[in-house]
Amino acid sequence: MADFLAAHTGLDPEDWAATRALGHRMLDDMIDWLADARARPVWRRMPDGKRAELRAPLPQDGVGLEAIYADFQRLVLPYGAANEHPRMMGWVNGGGNAAGILAELLTAVFNPNCAGRDHAGIEMERQVVAWAAEMVGMPAETSGVLLAGSSMANMVAVLVARRAALGAEVRTGGVGGVRLVAYASAAAHGCVPRALDMAGIGSDALRLVPADAAHRMEVGALRAAVAADQAAGLRPFLVVGTAGTVDCGAIDDLAGVAEVARAAGLWFHVDGAFGATAALSARYRPLLAGIERADSLAFDFHKWMQVPYDAGCVLVRDPAMHLATFAQDLAYLTYAERGMAGNPPWPRDLGPDLSREFRALKVWMTLLAYGADGLGRVVEHGCKVARHLAARVAREPALELLAPVTLNIVCFRVVALSDAANRELVADLQEAGIAAPSTTVIGGRLAIRAALFNHRTTEADADALVDGVLQLAAQRAVLR
Ligand SMILES: *Cc1c(COP(=O)(O)O)cnc(C)c1O
Repeated sequence: MADFLAAHTGLDPEDWAATRALGHRMLDDMIDWLADARARPVWRRMPDGKRAELRAPLPQDGVGLEAIYADFQRLVLPYGAANEHPRMMGWVNGGGNAAGILAELLTAVFNPNCAGRDHAGIEMERQVVAWAAEMVGMPAETSGVLLAGSSMANMVAVLVARRAALGAEVRTGGVGGVRLVAYASAAAHGCVPRALDMAGIGSDALRLVPADAAHRMEVGALRAAVAADQAAGLRPFLVVGTAGTVDCGAIDDLAGVAEVARAAGLWFHVDGAFGATAALSARYRPLLAGIERADSLAFDFHKWMQVPYDAGCVLVRDPAMHLATFAQDLAYLTYAERGMAGNPPWPRDLGPDLSREFRALKVWMTLLAYGADGLGRVVEHGCKVARHLAARVAREPALELLAPVTLNIVCFRVVALSDAANRELVADLQEAGIAAPSTTVIGGRLAIRAALFNHRTTEADADALVDGVLQLAAQRAVLR
């Protein structure tokens, strides 16, 4: 490398043969590594020595790719976040897929800047957005843009709702003294208050409406809260329905929430980060009734739809309002009648990013490779494994279910152990490499939370989780 760089100013090799051979070997190794996932422990802590090895001064001379790849295999690959593993059950993580892996390679070669301009990447993103709208029953003209994830998608939706409520002046003058108020379920994701914070409205402007025993926003309480705020001279502008709460997968009565929003003249946004994917299943789609009435929807392709990270999406029913929220007139980025600067509107006028990666290809290839029905079967499979796990928990006297299972998330605890000990138990399971659930708090109790998002997870994996919990809990009970 060093010799080569002395003689050339570019970065391409003189001869691609070595790159080609290494690339083939990497692909073979990575496919083996994926195929062997089940045989490995779900997670291994990266040893301190290897962390230290990663910390090195800025390299001055280039190193051969062979050596770099050897470092990757030694220092990186064994210490991943485990998303490929069938017994990864923590948080909300998709498992990736073969079409998505190959798409990432093609994306890196194609390497467009999807800020905009006239190229196939922009057309493909529009197609993916149209598929998303079709999936949830929103109109064909629905606008949308791909983003890093639902956190950004919820943020964009809050900004469009803010623009709709206060007009163009809000973009130049800010919210000023207007006391905007938004509403979401007490079970809403933390990125919703943060979006209000980032939008300059403040997270205190979010009313957390109580949820019922099924973790669904109480529509009556929502209606009463809006009326009280309007009577007090505040400015209600937005209600966020949740389709799939992060704790336990509850789905708000979206039709009921839509009705309150319509009656009060509020923007109706849905956070369907993973739950919107249930629209791909004929069995679970009815739970989302009302989602098609959303003014905007945030959801992720990288969760239940298994697209490699990252790929989130916001849909906005009113394309003109979406554009009016972000569009800028800049001499160096202006649209042209023809040539490369044609093809408006560009994604850079639909969200906060200018330079953007080509996320659409991996989404497009995943949807084409498996079809809506294939991904719908992944949804149904995850829910089936969750029901199996919940039934097993119910049968085990040592365990207690903490929340109803709507979709693919099961929250439970070991009855005999304290909250602290249940939390330790989850770390024990992860460190033993048996399974990797996460934790949350349900009704004041620490919950062991198993979220069945990975398409490779089977009922036997769910049983392995319970067996591991019971075994490690017995050890803890003995040790106490
Ligand atoms: C995951 C999640 C988010 C955040 O999405 P990211 O893609 O992680 O930014 C928001 N809401 C819910 C309900 C989620 O599950």
